[in-house]
Amino acid sequence: MRANRPKSTGPELRLQRLLQIARIKGYRVNAQDLPGRPDLVFPTEKVAIFVNGCFWHRCPFHGRSLPRANRDYWRLKFQLNRERDRRKERALKEAHWRVVTIWECELSRNPNLSIKRVRAALSRGQAVHAR
Ligand SMILES: [Zn+2]
Repeated sequence: MRANRPKSTGPELRLQRLLQIARIKGYRVNAQDLPGRPDLVFPTEKVAIFVNGCFWHRCPFHGRSLPRANRDYWRLKFQLNRERDRRKERALKEAHWRVVTIWECELSRNPNLSIKRVRAALSRGQAVHAR
């Protein structure tokens, strides 16, 4: 488990597989040139996707338990991670990107929901372009 991931990790690959099954195309992986380096981007629709690990990014859907040892360290570490996530999202939104955050647990428990959220973001993008 690493906070900074130079290449695709398990949950990201899982999402890519789901997108493939759903026949959703046109994305790029690890966009180095965008704020926060989103895990996946759809350049045409300007949709950026983060696939977040529940532990590092403090998923809101289940327990936010702290490791038993070095609690102060972990508290600070997680706080910094979350602030960085918020900064990334803000920077992308300011550049007119739509941001979708997909949690690791959602991806395993309800992959259809993840795909639905990606689709929703993409179709809104097209509506914007059509104007
Ligand atoms: Zn979670």
